[in-house]
Amino acid sequence: MRDFSGDTALLSLNTATVQAQWTLEQCIDGCARHGVGGIAPWRDKLAECGAARAAAMIRDAGLRVSGLCRGGMFPAATSAGRQAALDDNRKAIDDAATIGAECLILVVGGLPEGSKDIAGARMQVRDGIDALLDHSRAAGVPVAIEPLHPMYAADRACVNTLKQANDLCDALGGGVGVAVDVYHVWWDPDLEAEIARAGTAGRILGFHVCDWLVPTTDLLLDRGMMGDGAIDIPKIRGWVEAAGYSGTSEVEIFSKDNWWRRDADDVLTTCIERHQSAV
Ligand code: ZN
Repeated sequence: MRDFSGDTALLSLNTATVQAQWTLEQCIDGCARHGVGGIAPWRDKLAECGAARAAAMIRDAGLRVSGLCRGGMFPAATSAGRQAALDDNRKAIDDAATIGAECLILVVGGLPEGSKDIAGARMQVRDGIDALLDHSRAAGVPVAIEPLHPMYAADRACVNTLKQANDLCDALGGGVGVAVDVYHVWWDPDLEAEIARAGTAGRILGFHVCDWLVPTTDLLLDRGMMGDGAIDIPKIRGWVEAAGYSGTSEVEIFSKDNWWRRDADDVLTTCIERHQSAV
């Protein structure tokens, strides 16, 4: 595995980690001050700043953009709803291109309102990504399917394992890859094999880190700092790197009662320490 000691160039700050404390401008400045090499903005913060202005600031700070969060949310109950989702995804691709993002992260979406047809939702996801690909390929922005933990299957993502994501990539062709977020996939008995499969295809586009707290008190907003939970992050990083991944470790921590209440500079300092000791 790569040696992270004293090296923060391969650390990327997902802005969700300091969502409650900092604007995108402050995140960019914070990364520059702390020597963090990458950033992954969420679109709400990007919209507040403006994509062109953000692009200039990111360039001036010398940061790489490990991803833009997020596109996806393809399934809808009506064709108008599906079309609206596609339009929004095309705009996300344009913004990703403007800021030089290495990929657009896809949280693919769950069941349409009132539906119990998860197989149908998965078909809609496949069709939605397929319909987006002309635009994303032309823009030169790969899209990264991020499988989410199955507890989100109804409302956020009906792609829940890396195998499902790999199968989708095989079906859809070039310009589609996967993002491996340890929070979502650490429990999967097939994880090592599916990471190797993704690596063989050259499609690992992102590696996201945080930790699974025991107990977890909120399904969405109680993620842990690396090293504070149950995930063997170095083991998974080893698998990802053995599969050929050479990008950043992106810290993505939603934590309304803990890390979002702390001083953001202290959060970044802890991320840097844990990047070296627990990732
Ligand atoms: Zn993630």
